[in-house]
Amino acid sequence: MTKTAQTSLIHSDYEAPSGFDAFPPAVHRASTVLFENVAAMRSSQWKDKSAYTYGLHGTPTTFTLEARLAAIEGGEHCLLAPSGLSAIAMINFAFLKSGDDVLLPENVYNPNRELGRWLSQDFGVSARFYDPMIGGGIADLIQPNTKLVWTEAPGSVSMEVPDLPAICRAVKEKGVPVALDNTWSAGLALRGFDVGADIVMHALTKYQSGGADLLMGAVITRDTAVNERLAQAHMRLGLGVGADDAYLVMRSLPTMKLRFEAHDAGARKLASWLKARPEIAKVLHPAFEDCPGHANWKRDFKGAGGLFSVLFDPRYSEAQVDAFVDALTLFGIGYSWGGPNSLVMPYRIRAIRDRWLDAGVLVRFNVGLEDVGDLIADIEQALAQLPA
Ligand SMILES: *Cc1c(COP(=O)(O)O)cnc(C)c1O
Repeated sequence: MTKTAQTSLIHSDYEAPSGFDAFPPAVHRASTVLFENVAAMRSSQWKDKSAYTYGLHGTPTTFTLEARLAAIEGGEHCLLAPSGLSAIAMINFAFLKSGDDVLLPENVYNPNRELGRWLSQDFGVSARFYDPMIGGGIADLIQPNTKLVWTEAPGSVSMEVPDLPAICRAVKEKGVPVALDNTWSAGLALRGFDVGADIVMHALTKYQSGGADLLMGAVITRDTAVNERLAQAHMRLGLGVGADDAYLVMRSLPTMKLRFEAHDAGARKLASWLKARPEIAKVLHPAFEDCPGHANWKRDFKGAGGLFSVLFDPRYSEAQVDAFVDALTLFGIGYSWGGPNSLVMPYRIRAIRDRWLDAGVLVRFNVGLEDVGDLIADIEQALAQLPA
């Protein structure tokens, strides 16, 4: 059949020669996936990861990223989602229905708390919050209708490190699955399955991206039946990711461990310097002895990354600490972490942990990849602006 130029642009006869090979994985962009013939289409299964059915259910690019992420955690299965929060939603919708109960730590990532509240208000699920330092005592909170327990280590603002092995053991004895938000560790400082989690979730937005330039999430499991439930929710909620973003994460993964270690070294230096300052009442860094749960960190974790918090001396008002934050020049005021740029964020800690009634204003630092001496000099000049 002869074709017009216009049609040839859409139905080209050219096929590139086979045999091309290179280190970077190919970027397959597709909504439609083509079937060889109708029989192949009819026998296809969206769940089957040895084949392709539709862009939403996977391409060679997303399957490749999933395999690499699962390997970091020592997992078997991985599902990608367009943000860390949508990965959290996938887990909640996979395991919870009307009449069920979910337990979340009081210091849980705030949008997960918000999702819990929404599930309570509008979906007939009860969401209850527990003290993250409860350890094995969580067994007493499990009800017959408890279908999921969330953990997060450490809490990403208050930095308390829970006793994950004790929590996981107690919850699993009751036959309830444990989900771990392992974003802080990126699977490098801690592997979720080693401490007993059943479902490990990451915001790839952080260290896996490493560039502060994309949003993505992952849910990693070992158990096939658990993965099946998640995959159903993934499919029904339509949680696809873009091929270019998947590629960017893959491009950053080989340097993730080196970056994580550099963030870690910088953060510990900065935290040590802050600890000696009279303006700071407490440094909340899991590797420091006075951080709640430090012994758990020491036993279970291999590193710490770039995120920690400090409590200012209670003599400083919120407005004064806000002025300190505004005076910083190398620290951007913004959420998230894991990129090259240092960030700072003041928090109203009493809204997160009502037990910390006498605490001063909390400021969270994300130490980027700048020279630590420069970061310290910046903090020093901003502290000098506080009233004596
Ligand atoms: C950032 C973050 C998330 C959510 O990731 P997004 O991609 O921003 O939606 C979830 N949990 C923790 C602990 C995070 O830091």
